[in-house]
Amino acid sequence: MAEVLVYVDHVDGAVRKPTLELLTLARRVGEPVAVALGAGAEATAAVLAEHGAVKVLTADAPEFAEYLVVPKVDALQAAYDAVSPAAVLVPSSAEGKEIAARLAVRIGSGIITDAVDLEAGDEGPVATQAAFAASFTTKSRVSKGTPVITVKPNSAPVEAAPAAGAVEALVVTFGALATGTKVVSRTPRESTGRPELTEAAIVVSGGRGVNGAENFAIIEELADSLGAAVGASRAAVDAGWYPHSNQVGQTGKSVSPQLYIASGISGAIQHRAGMQTSKTIVAINKDAEAPIFDLVDYGVVGDLFEVVPQLTGEIKAR
Ligand code: FAD
Repeated sequence: MAEVLVYVDHVDGAVRKPTLELLTLARRVGEPVAVALGAGAEATAAVLAEHGAVKVLTADAPEFAEYLVVPKVDALQAAYDAVSPAAVLVPSSAEGKEIAARLAVRIGSGIITDAVDLEAGDEGPVATQAAFAASFTTKSRVSKGTPVITVKPNSAPVEAAPAAGAVEALVVTFGALATGTKVVSRTPRESTGRPELTEAAIVVSGGRGVNGAENFAIIEELADSLGAAVGASRAAVDAGWYPHSNQVGQTGKSVSPQLYIASGISGAIQHRAGMQTSKTIVAINKDAEAPIFDLVDYGVVGDLFEVVPQLTGEIKAR
């Protein structure tokens, strides 16, 4: 069976959920060979093996931390040269997409970004993407070279599938561009204790209807009762009520959780672009004609200042 390279997103050896989802998809199209780079790379092997990695290629060097993405592209290309895979899968983070794009250019391959599903096809892997603000889905495959595909978080379940996960050291030679952009400092974002927005299984978002930064407390309380991440519409972000890092939509983040709860959000096309692939959508809006109700699974016509606290109370009582 053909091997499929899976780029591992991890923090000091702790593998992030989107990589485990990639392994589920990789197993549909071949045998997953994981590529883990940087500090803690070897520590990823056990969990990757539990989820289907037949091999884990690891490399660590100061360049991975000290410079931006190019050293990682050099390493992924080294893995590509060593394995000659049938496909390369990368998580659809900002960094992942840059790595994937640079690799695709180097190896002269087509690239598919932001896939939401992947299946085996007669002529190579077939990826599903959501198009036109997720109003349509398209199926496509790369027709030139080895497909490089980035996959959005929450696109596949995490499945246990024990495999060998043999660790092999990857020999990487850094090219001239690797040290082109040095990282001067890193400032970790203050932790809210909530899940990362793009990876969360549940997202609770507030919009202009929340009517003030201080009122986001009720959105956060509902989110915390569900173990959810908090999102915001651009109107709420532009008003300075919530950080841009939490904006959902065309110019914010794209989310695809199991459950998306929109409160006081009208459902503009640019907001939909970032949340329409959510599995179940609930909206709370006092205007029964709000466009968001066109795409919801469940809609509550009512004042969010009454509905949201009641919902939080109900959930906490269970
Ligand atoms: P509104 O459209 O003003 O809707 C507020 C809603 O709250 C209304 O439906 C109202 O009925 C309801 N409401 C008010 N009070 C209550 C209450 N007490 N209880 C219940 N409901 C209440 N937008 C994004 O969100 N993300 C993006 O990434 C984004 N990118 C954009 C990019 C471009 C190029 C452009 C042009 C626009 C973009 N926008 C984006 C903006 C988008 O067009 C909308 O303006 C924005 O999404 C509106 O935000 P909203 O739904 O919170 O506000």
